[in-house]
Amino acid sequence: MPSLTSENRKLLGQTAIVTGASSGIGQKCAVALGQAGANVCVNFFGKRTGADEAVEAAIASGAKAIALECDVSDEAQVTRMFASAVEHFGTVDILVNNAGLQADAPLANMTLAQWNKVIGVNLTGQFLCAREAVREFQRRGLRPEVSCALGKIICISSVHQIIPWSGHVNYAASKGGVNMMMQSIAQETAPLKIRVNSVCPGAIQTPINRAAWETSEALGKLLMCIPYKRIGQPEDIARAVVWLASDDADYVNGTSLFIDGGMTLFPGFATGG
Ligand code: NAD
Repeated sequence: MPSLTSENRKLLGQTAIVTGASSGIGQKCAVALGQAGANVCVNFFGKRTGADEAVEAAIASGAKAIALECDVSDEAQVTRMFASAVEHFGTVDILVNNAGLQADAPLANMTLAQWNKVIGVNLTGQFLCAREAVREFQRRGLRPEVSCALGKIICISSVHQIIPWSGHVNYAASKGGVNMMMQSIAQETAPLKIRVNSVCPGAIQTPINRAAWETSEALGKLLMCIPYKRIGQPEDIARAVVWLASDDADYVNGTSLFIDGGMTLFPGFATGG
């Protein structure tokens, strides 16, 4: 697997907030953004250990990094997190809207609390953070010496923004919502030179889907949905996030980048359907 270490630190002078960065995809994104030269705000909610690990790894690569606690579904906490980031690093240039969770149940058994929890974190949380980011990008203004964009937002969505998912109605609805939210914000803010895109992971080996990979039987079943025949790793997503955040992706706006080993290629049709 190619190394994450960036030879030319394309994000030097910029500051990134990564939500839900104490584990999994967010943790690796935070470290990779630091390796690319960005100052990193590692958001966590609850257990702090993984956020401290990400901070240490980013600092070890020469970046500046801090951990910030915040429940992304809470408006006041999101406002405070952005204020802390600005106080510490002067501004925010990059938001990785990553925090997410599942609360699965068959529809007939799904409680309103399960529905609201998933929509609250996965969709409303992304809205609250994107809104604060756009406000900060506009307050700060363009700094052509660090980026030709006013700011960049990367939403971590899912293949389930297009693949319906029985037993996970709340989760699939939240990710379908992220897609339309992302595209609408991108359309609205493109004239301001703000770029907004989504990364849509397939099956990535993280705590969120442990049951799908922790036994060989479960993994075998999962691999039937993945033409490339391996489970994804958080680094597969982190590399794309760094690219989307950089000026190398300057003309990429309002798009969804599926990183899924081909999961969205209708694998059931590989042998003729
Ligand atoms: P994960 O469980 O390791 O990470 C999710 C993170 O979100 C955790 O660190 C958790 O503490 C944080 N979080 C939960 N509620 C929060 C809140 N209210 N405020 C702030 N942070 C909160 O799982 P992951 O796989 O790394 O998931 C990251 C993102 O990737 C999620 O949005 C998930 O939906 C998406 N995703 C994952 C996969 C996969 O296969 N792993 C596939 C598609 C999409």
